[in-house]
Amino acid sequence: MSAIRKPITPRPPRTRQKVLVILQEQCKQCSLCVEFCPKNVLCIDTAKYNRKGYHPVTACDIDSCVNCEFCERICPDMAIFLADREEALKAYEAGALQEGTLIPEFEAAKKAQEVEQ
Ligand code: SF4
Ligand code: SF4
Repeated sequence: MSAIRKPITPRPPRTRQKVLVILQEQCKQCSLCVEFCPKNVLCIDTAKYNRKGYHPVTACDIDSCVNCEFCERICPDMAIFLADREEALKAYEAGALQEGTLIPEFEAAKKAQEVEQ
């Protein structure tokens, strides 16, 4: 039998207040956000080119994002930022996002739903 007492109230699952938004058309592939993200969330999408001819940044592990905003602060082109979750979801569902806007968390949820169906 374990001598460690279990917590009376289990810790609730962590919920992120904001969602990561990437404006892939604005990205210049400088990789600053990739290098500085403390959780290795970001990577360069080498399979894609934006209109400027760069490979834009994407999220390779969006589940690890901790909303620290380092990427937003360091991007010289304002191509990556954190947005209010509800507002972003409304715009995403309404199809009101500007071309090249990627919200990795919503895309991942959509793919998961498609697999379940
Ligand atoms: S908010 Fe922080 S953890 Fe999330 S992608 Fe940006 S730098 Fe990485
Ligand atoms: S810091 Fe900005 S411009 Fe540089 S790779 Fe990241 S999103 Fe693109």
